[in-house]
Amino acid sequence: MAAINPVYLDNYGIINYHTHVFNHFLEESETMAEKSFNPFEMAQAQFDRVAEILDLDQGTKELLRYNLREYHVSIPVRMDDGTVKVFRGFRVQHNDARGPAKGGIRFHPMETIDTVRALAMWMTWKCSVVDIPLGGGKGGIICDPHNLSMREQEAICRGWIRHLAKDMGPLKDVPAPDVMTSAQHMLWMLDEFEAIHGQRLPGFITGKPVGMGGSLGRTEATGYGVIFTVREALKQLEIPASETRASVQGFGNVAQYAIELYNQIWGKVVCVSSWDQKDQTSYSFYKEDGVDLATLRSITDRFGGIDKVRAKEHGYEVLPGEAWLEQDVEILIPSALEHQITWKNVDKISKSVKIIAEGANGPTTPDADKVIHKRGIFMIPDLLANAGGVTCSYFEQVQSNMNYFWEKDEVLGKLDTKMTSAFNAVSDLAKKKKLYMRDAAYVIAVGRVAQACKDRGWV
Ligand code: NAD
Repeated sequence: MAAINPVYLDNYGIINYHTHVFNHFLEESETMAEKSFNPFEMAQAQFDRVAEILDLDQGTKELLRYNLREYHVSIPVRMDDGTVKVFRGFRVQHNDARGPAKGGIRFHPMETIDTVRALAMWMTWKCSVVDIPLGGGKGGIICDPHNLSMREQEAICRGWIRHLAKDMGPLKDVPAPDVMTSAQHMLWMLDEFEAIHGQRLPGFITGKPVGMGGSLGRTEATGYGVIFTVREALKQLEIPASETRASVQGFGNVAQYAIELYNQIWGKVVCVSSWDQKDQTSYSFYKEDGVDLATLRSITDRFGGIDKVRAKEHGYEVLPGEAWLEQDVEILIPSALEHQITWKNVDKISKSVKIIAEGANGPTTPDADKVIHKRGIFMIPDLLANAGGVTCSYFEQVQSNMNYFWEKDEVLGKLDTKMTSAFNAVSDLAKKKKLYMRDAAYVIAVGRVAQACKDRGWV
């Protein structure tokens, strides 16, 4: 078996889940954070803290700290060499009181049921904070697509669906692409699902290719969503966007579209960073008068890695990986991976920084978060800042169910409305109750789900 790219592991591996859970909610020390390796226990501890703030009754607490349903499946696949290999897969539905469960399906060689359980719970909170009528779910299959042919991957997708076709569906549980799964995987899964049910049911899955039921605007959705929230934060702070500069970690899907929209509202990005696969390190790319998105895109590979030699030729100063964090800017947008702003580097954040918008999941560790809170920097937490992706997936589901597709402007307009009202709800609560933005986001999210369970008479 080929070695797994360590960046990939970093980006999407187990660490991701742990850091994410720890994000601000727990008061534990770094040592504790590093020792504890069960993401689901951590997600539960995070929930317990919010449950306490909300003073939830015992029944609701008991219900929400566990997943409603989970499925474990074994998928036998005839490999290209003629042997049969059995792949283990999971689907977890954390809560569907507010609507069908929603959440991605991941391929990962180190997938575990506890990571999937934790991710399903977080999906419930993310859908709730942006107030879309969906619950939370997540799936995973233990496999490494680097070592699988397309035919083998197709067999895994179809096998997973054959097991779960009765327990998922447009009105029950709607999957989407996630780590190492793509629009192609979604189409194979949809095709199998429709074959089993004997009808076309495009609302079963999101992240489909445009033209095959996918939504226009999905590619831009997460990055644009980040900037919709930044724009609102700037309004609150009464700072014109044109007088701000930003530094962005990463140059992948989220980062590129965040930069695109930020430029459109007249903000200037002076620094971006990316991972260099050849050198196995990251670099930052600085340009005093603002980076040029088109130029950078033209020298970036499909994994979001910027070619440093060509960047130098285009007049970029090539700096160490962490330099993005130290720039004299008003806005930081970590959009690469988890565990990037830690107790080790948080003090390097410039005094000029007014806003941090978490494009990535879990970029800030809890102890760094405490420092940021104390410094009075306006934090737009991942839960809210990067919820544009799932919001647009919801729009795709709606369009698919109607079999009527909207123009891109309409999709992005609706996305703006949703993100803006979610931002306002969170910041209003934060002001009213003197809560940190991250806490306010979680209080709203968990509160809505608890209420839905109560209204249904579950608890
Ligand atoms: P991507 O793979 O398209 O891009 C990742 C970028 O980060 C690349 O430019 C890569 O070079 C860079 N990178 C990796 N390691 C780095 C390092 N150590 N230092 C600096 N740069 C590094 O990923 P993406 O889809 O843009 O996702 C980025 C983050 O946003 C992840 O945390 C992901 O979970 C989160 N997120 C993404 C979406 C979405 O719709 N794509 C939605 C919600 C959250």
